[in-house]
Amino acid sequence: MTTAKAYAVQTKTSPLEPWSFERRDVGAHDVQFEILFCGVCHSDIHQARDEWGGSKYPMVPGHEIVGRVAKVGPHVKKFKAGDLVGVGCLVDSCRTCDNCKEGLEQYCLNGGSGTYNGFEQDKKTPTYGGYSNVIVVHEDFVLRVSDKLPLKAVAPLLCAGITTYSPLRHWKIGKGHKLAVAGLGGLGHMAVKFGVSFGAEVTMLSTSKSKEADAKKLGAHHFLLMSDADAVKKATGTFDFILDTIAAEHDYNKYLALLKTSGTHICVGAPPTPAQIRMFTLIGRRKSLAGSAIGGLPETQEMLDYCAEHNIVSDIEVIDIKDINTAYERMIKGDVKYRFVIDMATLK
Ligand code: NAP
Ligand code: ZN
Ligand code: ZN
Repeated sequence: MTTAKAYAVQTKTSPLEPWSFERRDVGAHDVQFEILFCGVCHSDIHQARDEWGGSKYPMVPGHEIVGRVAKVGPHVKKFKAGDLVGVGCLVDSCRTCDNCKEGLEQYCLNGGSGTYNGFEQDKKTPTYGGYSNVIVVHEDFVLRVSDKLPLKAVAPLLCAGITTYSPLRHWKIGKGHKLAVAGLGGLGHMAVKFGVSFGAEVTMLSTSKSKEADAKKLGAHHFLLMSDADAVKKATGTFDFILDTIAAEHDYNKYLALLKTSGTHICVGAPPTPAQIRMFTLIGRRKSLAGSAIGGLPETQEMLDYCAEHNIVSDIEVIDIKDINTAYERMIKGDVKYRFVIDMATLK
C-alpha cells in the first residue's frame, strides 16, 4: 500500500481539509502515477456538499487528473514509468455489458466505478479522487497525454473537455449548424472551443455581461445576455442546438424557445433540482430535450489526441490546494476564468 496525501471533506458541511489514506498496491494491470495537476469541476462541489444525494464520506474529490507514471504492474503494455497520463471521471466498469463493449463505459449497465464518491467493481472499496498526490488505476482507464501541450491546461480536458466534445460529436454538430452554448464556466468555455473548431456558428448564452469579451476571445461568434429581454426575444427560434452547461436551477423553457423547429437542447449541466418543462414548448416545434454524460474511454483518448493535434487546451487559473475552499466559493459565483487547476506540488 502507498499512503496518499489528500484534501477531503468529512461531512457535507465541512470544508476541504488535509487527510491521508492508503492507495492499493500496484496490481498486474495497474498504473501508479504521481498526480501533478487536478482540475476543479462543479461536480466536485455538487458531490462534496451532497447536492445530488447519496454522497459518501470521507470524500476526496477530483476527476480531472494528470501526472507522470511512477510504477506499472508486470502485465501493463500501454505505459511505462515517466509517461504523462491522465484519468477522468471513471476508474473502472464491468467491461462486459453492451455499453462497455461499445466503449461507452460511462453508461455501464452494471454501474461503472466513479473516480471518487464511488466504489471499485467489488462494490465495497471506496474510490478517492485527484485532490491527492498519487493514484493507482487499471491501465484500461488511464489515458495517454501528449507532451506537446501544457500539462496543467490539459487536466480540465479529462472532464470539461470530454463532456462537451462527446455530445458535439454524437449529434454531429459542425459546419452549417447554429450552436448556442449556455453558461460560460469550465464546461462552457470548452464547448465554445470545440464548437468553433468543428465549424459551427457559436453563440454564447450567458447571465454575465462581463464575460462578453472573453466569449469572443474564446472564439464565439455572438454573445446573448440572457437578461436582455429584447435580444432574447429576437433570438427566438434561431438555434439548431443548445449545449446547456448551467450548474444551477434555471428556466429551461426560456432556452428551449430559442431553438428552431426540430432543434435539440442537450443538457450536460446537472443542477440538483428537478426542472419544470412546458410540453407545448417541445410539441409545438418538434423539439428534443436530451442529456449526455462525460464520454467513454476510446472517445476520451480521441478527444485528447484531437486537442494535441489542434492545440486546444483549457483556460486555467492555477491554485494552491490550501485555497480550494475559496475556489469553490468563487465558482459558485461564476467567478472563474475558466477552470481552477490545483498545482499538486502545493500539497505538502
Ligand atoms: P462552472 O464552471 O461553475 O460553470 C457553470 C456556469 O453556469 C457559470 O459560469 C454560469 O455562466 C452559469 N450559471 C451559473 N448559475 C446560473 C444560473 N442560475 N442561471 C444561468 N446560468 C448560470 O461549472 P462546470 O464545472 O462547467 O459544470 C457545469 C455543470 O455541468 C455542473 O452542474 C456540473 O455538475 C455538470 N457536469 C456534468 C457532466 C456530465 O457528464 N454531464 C460532467 C461535468 C460537469 P454565466 O456566468 O455565463 O451565466
Ligand atoms: Zn467533472
Ligand atoms: Zn458495463
